[in-house]
Amino acid sequence: MGKGLLIVMSGPSGVGKGTILELLRAHYEPERKVFLSVSATTRGMRPGEIDGYHYHFIDREHFVELRDRGELLEYAEYAGNMYGTPASPIDSHIANGDIVVLDIETRGAFQVMEKRDDAVSVFIMPPDMDELERRLRGRGTETEEQIQRRMAISRSECGHAEKYDYIIYNDTLDNAVEAFCKIIDTNLNGDVK
Ligand code: 5GP
Repeated sequence: MGKGLLIVMSGPSGVGKGTILELLRAHYEPERKVFLSVSATTRGMRPGEIDGYHYHFIDREHFVELRDRGELLEYAEYAGNMYGTPASPIDSHIANGDIVVLDIETRGAFQVMEKRDDAVSVFIMPPDMDELERRLRGRGTETEEQIQRRMAISRSECGHAEKYDYIIYNDTLDNAVEAFCKIIDTNLNGDVK
């Protein structure tokens, strides 16, 4: 097996990135590992989240330390909390042949695009904004104020979609996953993005 692939994925909160990733895993594993980068965040843990698996949940002081030591490939503030990608695991996973996925918001994604010309960037677009709001509400993990804040960010994030190498419309999950697999296979085979 050759080298792996670095994928930067963005898309509004509630668009279904988590579900798409689970299905990508089911498609590629066990032949090829899909490594989902575990970010550091200052956000509080949601019910059901596991420290070290969904995120490294840390306080602001620790976050600033990591940033100042240059240990984050990128970082950004989102809805009042800091999020950042630990740099060190990425290259070893790529050398191992893994598909490495960074699920990060747009400003962080642009930092990665600047620093890593091997990164393939993918934006997941919701079928429409009303549907997105319904999904976000249905998840039941945010307060009304947080939902409104995330919807405002989402509208602005969708305006940056054209800066990504690929846009995938998540109209149906099957279509979205099929499109994503095609992008991965093309780029794994060394074709230009
Ligand atoms: P959530 O709080 O819903 O888990 O994440 C909020 C937003 O932060 C999502 O758009 C998610 O993709 C993004 N995010 C998660 N980890 C990182 C990270 O390490 N860096 C950046 N820039 N964004 C992140």
